[in-house]
Amino acid sequence: MPAQLLDGNALARQIRMELAEQVADFIENNGVVPTLAAVLVGDDPASQVYVRNKRRDCDQVGIQSQLHALPADTTQDELLALIARLNRDEAVHGILVQLPLPPQIAARAVLEAVNPHKDVDAFHPENVGLVVQGRPRFLPCTPAAVQQLLVRNGIPIAGRHAVVVGRSDIVGKPLAIMLGQRGTGADATVTLCHSRTPDLAAITRLADILIVAVGRARFITGDMIRPGATVIDVGINRTDDGLVGDVDFQSAREVAAALTPVPGGVGPLTRVMLLANTLTAAGLLER
Ligand code: NDP
Repeated sequence: MPAQLLDGNALARQIRMELAEQVADFIENNGVVPTLAAVLVGDDPASQVYVRNKRRDCDQVGIQSQLHALPADTTQDELLALIARLNRDEAVHGILVQLPLPPQIAARAVLEAVNPHKDVDAFHPENVGLVVQGRPRFLPCTPAAVQQLLVRNGIPIAGRHAVVVGRSDIVGKPLAIMLGQRGTGADATVTLCHSRTPDLAAITRLADILIVAVGRARFITGDMIRPGATVIDVGINRTDDGLVGDVDFQSAREVAAALTPVPGGVGPLTRVMLLANTLTAAGLLER
């Protein structure tokens, strides 16, 4: 029987509805509208689309958004000055710096300059540390999206073997840590794989839950998946056939019990997690 599809769009709609209610309650109780400041440097078309979508998502749940668009030749000091101003601005609860930044700007310096209480992407080292210690202020958006996909589809995690392929700071590494923590939506036994992992297929075939964040189109094929496994495909690759994931959908579908599509899997939920973090940030600052 082909795998059950884990529909990220439907789940994102449901969570957006929940968030819209929570935002309305927050506004009623505090007289303040949660506000996200999006910072966009340069004119990269993909980044412009991402920021436009994120602002539209905000609209849908009643979060206010601001766009701070700077030219491609902005200096690091100019960008840091804007971040400092947004850090001080009490009307701004969350700050999102759209990546990538132009080459003259060190992304790390900018992300570390964001007030950790407004760091809705959870990229600041203080927030990364809190995640590692199992007492997160914000959860990083894509790992949180993967966790929600599993939890809300009733896929057991505790005691299962989760294999994460890819160890980036924004996806694989924090996700491996989150799934291995004590507590709800966690308690997995985790294996973290990367480009230096020998015989990757031997490990992926042991996974009850296989999560792939590599950035290579159709990299994981059905023969690398344990029959009955849950497969979460984080990858987004632009090919001549359109957007495809890191998992070969056709062959994986014949083996896995549950599988996320691309598009329409992790992506829409990642965007929702940013909204949840913005509401959390508003709560921190208005307390
Ligand atoms: P990175 O390029 O930062 O990391 C890729 C990881 O894959 C690295 O850890 C790398 O290993 C590993 N890798 C590369 N080749 C192999 C291989 N042959 N075998 C095993 N591991 C390998 O990517 P990101 O984590 O930023 O993104 C991964 C994918 O997820 C991309 O397609 C991206 O577009 C997508 N993405 C999707 C999001 C969503 O919302 N759905 C959000 C963010 C990303 P090593 O460390 O050894 O180099």
